[in-house]
Amino acid sequence: MNLSEPQNKDISKPPDYWRKPLDIEKYKIPHGTVHIIIERCKGCEFCIEFCPQKVFEVSDEFNSKGYHPPKIVCHDKCVNCKLCELICPEFAIYITEDEPMNII
Ligand code: SF4
Ligand code: SF4
Repeated sequence: MNLSEPQNKDISKPPDYWRKPLDIEKYKIPHGTVHIIIERCKGCEFCIEFCPQKVFEVSDEFNSKGYHPPKIVCHDKCVNCKLCELICPEFAIYITEDEPMNII
């Protein structure tokens, strides 16, 4: 192999020989279920903006007050950090803890 030539590799994927740690079963990813009380929402979008896992998007629907509540777009990504629950000024979101998920 000539090291002076540029290598044409796709660096976005892990290499084929990526090793799996022997103790990986010991480590789990926390997981939660998101519950939204639609009628309490005032559409501030804090939950959408600050969820580190981008679990929410703005919904096209309206609640009875005329606000767009968030909708859950990828529930499996929720890591039960409860930031959305803490940040919502209307107490319109709560999280219940689920079984942790395997890393791989
Ligand atoms: S608990 Fe954390 S990861 Fe889950 S939806 Fe709320 S902010 Fe996102
Ligand atoms: S943070 Fe609460 S009030 Fe604001 S959009 Fe999300 S659910 Fe609605």
